[in-house]
Amino acid sequence: MNFIDTHCHLDLYPDYAVLIDKIEKEQIYTIAVTNTPSVFRQSAKLAAGKNYIRTALGLHPQLVAERYRELDLMISLLSETKYIGEIGLDFTKDNKEQQLLQEKVFDTILQSCAEYGNKILTVHSRRATSRVIDMIGNSYNGTVIMHWFSGSKNELERAVSYGFYFSINPSMISGAKGRELINSIPLDKILTESDGPFVKVNANPASPLDTQKTVIKLAELFKFDNVQMKSKIYQNFRSIYSKLGVIAIQ
Ligand code: MN
Repeated sequence: MNFIDTHCHLDLYPDYAVLIDKIEKEQIYTIAVTNTPSVFRQSAKLAAGKNYIRTALGLHPQLVAERYRELDLMISLLSETKYIGEIGLDFTKDNKEQQLLQEKVFDTILQSCAEYGNKILTVHSRRATSRVIDMIGNSYNGTVIMHWFSGSKNELERAVSYGFYFSINPSMISGAKGRELINSIPLDKILTESDGPFVKVNANPASPLDTQKTVIKLAELFKFDNVQMKSKIYQNFRSIYSKLGVIAIQ
């Protein structure tokens, strides 16, 4: 039974080589998301031959205005990985033109992934939760992991009814509002993430090595013991793969 980090920006740590060694030693399954298609192959090289790290292909919504020309590259690289992220929408900036561009890019990525089927998506949805849920829909033929979900209770219920998973990071679980929301997520849809190095733990960048602390806080919240909670999250992660019809995490 291992710890799981389904959303970590491994390529953005200055000391990534040291971190990768520690992740391998601690055997923490880590989905290494990327923010632009042009860094995917380089980032994938960091994880080459590693047992616990899988590199995701992404186009971060906050970079879409600047990098939308990389969409074709993104589509052409889809055959190289089943992990897709960071993708999604971010409507923090009240800019209609950029929001429409983000939707167009996200829609193209979703459609293209659907042509393959069985992709594992790690999805950003800040200030755009309903739109993200609408665009993915109720019958998407892949696994959807909502990263750092910050929507309303109603939106959460809808995402749950669509079968989405939720990855919880140290920041999300540190506030009362976040904890209340997390408490409404069915146990079998809970995963863990660091979102490092963006999320900080005690002023230091969070990393997959912090997952144990998040699991302990989740255990408190769900009134489980730590081992049961860890086991539950591990089973949830494994369930994604059994749905894909593969036995091993690959
Ligand atoms: Mn992120």
